[in-house]
Amino acid sequence: MEIKANSSEYIYSAGELDKAEGKAIEELKARSQKPISDPDQWLEEEIKQNILLTTVDWTLNWARRSSLWTVICFPACCAFEVICTAASRFDISRFGMEIIRASPRQADLMITAGTLTWKMAPQVRRIYDQMAEPKWVIAMGACAISGGTFAHSYSVVPGYNRIIPVDVYVPGCPPRPEALLYGIRMLQQKIAKIKNF
Ligand code: SF4
Repeated sequence: MEIKANSSEYIYSAGELDKAEGKAIEELKARSQKPISDPDQWLEEEIKQNILLTTVDWTLNWARRSSLWTVICFPACCAFEVICTAASRFDISRFGMEIIRASPRQADLMITAGTLTWKMAPQVRRIYDQMAEPKWVIAMGACAISGGTFAHSYSVVPGYNRIIPVDVYVPGCPPRPEALLYGIRMLQQKIAKIKNF
């Protein structure tokens, strides 16, 4: 509000101010005869447009294949390719798999990255038995598939499928990270087809 120079009087008289205030109140009253509609009413309509119908099988399989947790089972040189796959360049976390578990009870995938000896076999079987159900196995590399170079050695298991069920085989010595990622995608497709009930 302005004040006249060198004067303590207001430009507007008290009566004029009362009149202006009363006018503003009356105008607001005139605009406020009905309650303002709920600004979130659109939500109900939005929900109606976004309901998806699917099956319990699809939902369960989607959740499982999108959050595979790998248990540590790296007995030989293929392990370095798994480590590389988990690092930033190949970025296994794109598939919801960045957590490699030290505890088999918190894992549902075993990637068998390396030569397995008979001496080590009972421990690997024990880790598999302790993993949560449902669980899957990827046999990675020639040694995991068939014993590889060492297949005829007295001490080497000629393939992990002698001691645990294998879902996907990834050939190579060692397989590159791209091959392992391809195997993981194949496993995800397999999980998507599981009938749970
Ligand atoms: S497949 Fe080759 S790289 Fe892998 S564990 Fe066997 S010898 Fe090592």
